[in-house]
Amino acid sequence: MSKTYRHFETSAIHAGYDAKTMDGSLTTPIFQTSTFTFESAEQGERRFAGEEDGYIYSRLGNPTVAALEEKIAALENGERGLAFASGMAAVSAILIALTKANDHILCSSGLYGCTFGLLTMLEDKYNIRHDFSEMETKEDIRSLINDKTACIYVETPINPTMKLVDLRLVAEVAKEYGIPVVVDNTFSSPYLQRPLELGCDVVIHSATKYIGGHGDVIAGLAVGQKDFLDQVAMTTQKDIGGIIGPMDAWLLLRGLKTLPVRLERHCDNAEKIAAHLKAHPAVKHVYYPGDADHPDYALMQQQMKRGGGVIAFEMEGTKKDAQSLLNQLQFLKIAVSLGDAETLIEHPATMTHAAVPEKNRLEMGITDQLIRLSVGLEAWEDIWEDLQQALDWCSSKSHNKTMTETEKLVR
Ligand code: PLP
Repeated sequence: MSKTYRHFETSAIHAGYDAKTMDGSLTTPIFQTSTFTFESAEQGERRFAGEEDGYIYSRLGNPTVAALEEKIAALENGERGLAFASGMAAVSAILIALTKANDHILCSSGLYGCTFGLLTMLEDKYNIRHDFSEMETKEDIRSLINDKTACIYVETPINPTMKLVDLRLVAEVAKEYGIPVVVDNTFSSPYLQRPLELGCDVVIHSATKYIGGHGDVIAGLAVGQKDFLDQVAMTTQKDIGGIIGPMDAWLLLRGLKTLPVRLERHCDNAEKIAAHLKAHPAVKHVYYPGDADHPDYALMQQQMKRGGGVIAFEMEGTKKDAQSLLNQLQFLKIAVSLGDAETLIEHPATMTHAAVPEKNRLEMGITDQLIRLSVGLEAWEDIWEDLQQALDWCSSKSHNKTMTETEKLVR
């Protein structure tokens, strides 16, 4: 396990790298190579037999990637980290490693759309069934565990509804049955929430989001016990092959150095924007775990440092009204993804969760009026000014519509 420092901020910069081993290079060198040469045929044989440490081929390991894996393990307080080509490569490698045909997975009540797609595929191809649970009480969880349950898979905060799941509670029940708990920690990052410290077994990230932080890389990470992740590295990762490239690993190493600073700013901005959204007449509901009125606010205080940078809100009106809001924005960007310097806004029902059948989507709480906002690092006043002018436009439009309808009735 990599050396850690007393404070997260210091580990984010220094953990996993020793400049002395790299000719004093301040930043981790990018080992842009697909393969590594052996000094002799016998050395090649020893490396393949696992009798000698050393690199072989970058799908099996690469020094830049190894530095990233050590750093994320240190930050999540886990034994081993593994880096992947995308968040979905991490999710699929972990779920395939944990299950076999006819097994069962118990999931939180909402999931990212492509994770839902993967579960559907596992069910169609291998009869690996799944159930969703609110996981509000131990009984909720126990009632859906059966002798085929291979793991519990949780997102918290849930994408995009921002509901929270009590990780300590889930981990306690899972221990009763000896089932591993996998947590997608994408929305929090290890700066705000560390599931392994709460008793969970594996943490997954779409590192594309807060860990990269600059909207320029697609990547995934997983952290957990060494034995399990060694097994993933030598099976589902090696043989399916969703590995990260050295340049992308380097971008994540750079992003991680500023993670604490960025997250504080994302949270500061999101708290202010959530408060202003709540007061606007065009907005019906705001879902932000850092808001004292959020039903999971107390839980947020127990298991997260702060509420994060993502807000979901429901517009008054119809799908058209929600889409109009996006179209009226002047500089905020209509885009999926989150955790970037730029504020990003999207319509989950027709974008990130479009592949989820309508019935499941509505059960997850994703209505046609729901908007997801990833609050960026700009001045919050500028973010609000743009949102406000768009929301004002939506209110005046619905006011005009009502007037016209009333006029029609009068006539
Ligand atoms: N998990 C969550 C919560 C996500 O939001 C996403 C992507 O948006 C993923 C996993 C998948 O990550 P990637 O796009 O890096 O494959």
